[in-house]
Amino acid sequence: MIKFENVSKIYPNGTKGLTDVNLQINQGEFVAIIGTSGAGKSTLIRCVNGLNDITSGSLIVNDTEVSKLKGKELRKFRRHVGMIFQSYNLVPRVTVLKNVMFARVPDMSLFKVIFGLFSKEDKLIALDSLNKVGILDKAYIRADQLSGGQQQRVSLARALSQESEILLADEPVSALDPVTAKEVMDDFKRINEEFNKTILLNIHHVELALEYASRIIAVKKGKIVYDGPSQEVTKEILDEVYRKEA
Ligand code: ADP
Repeated sequence: MIKFENVSKIYPNGTKGLTDVNLQINQGEFVAIIGTSGAGKSTLIRCVNGLNDITSGSLIVNDTEVSKLKGKELRKFRRHVGMIFQSYNLVPRVTVLKNVMFARVPDMSLFKVIFGLFSKEDKLIALDSLNKVGILDKAYIRADQLSGGQQQRVSLARALSQESEILLADEPVSALDPVTAKEVMDDFKRINEEFNKTILLNIHHVELALEYASRIIAVKKGKIVYDGPSQEVTKEILDEVYRKEA
């Protein structure tokens, strides 16, 4: 469960990222955040795993008050909240399998990391995650030899291998062509339905958000201006969300 209570985020330079955000996302929901560029979508997502610290309010993720976490505790918490980025964030010259296993690195000593001595369990979990996103056959190929869609699947598998209940994704399909973007969204949907993972992603293709997510949260200037079922998003709501202010 993710719960924002009166959350505001002001960046050190004074820019307001979020203002008084209230929302609750239950386990197993598929939520898309929409809004214009600079609206606060990414800020909202990055608060959930503590990549952004909040300025005021309360943010609870699975019984943990995220703003109270520091150092080691914060790193441990983050390990259990999978995050997928627009640019995949893979290590290019390393195999797909090792890329996925790196997600579990904080559990290992530096010595083991350097020599790639992953445990059998880590390897099995990584292979299982690759299987879940349909690219088990690519396990021993170098990450930079894969297409963009395949690389995004690797990062999805990496997030899955963290065995987190929540998957966050910051513009996961923005760098992909429309067909591949849909394939990756299909993966999110399947993972949501088969494994009951909570999916919270932001996306600037509204049609994809409406097609795949069951709930839409629209942000504008750091505030929530719509929060409800995707079927109930009307043209008027979208006009308001995307209307440029003078
Ligand atoms: P979106 O994801 O909707 O494009 P962001 O969450 O990235 O929007 O940004 C929301 C607002 O916060 C924007 O005004 C942006 O310029 C600002 N912002 C984002 N990151 C920073 C930062 N690190 N420092 C200062 N301002 C930032």
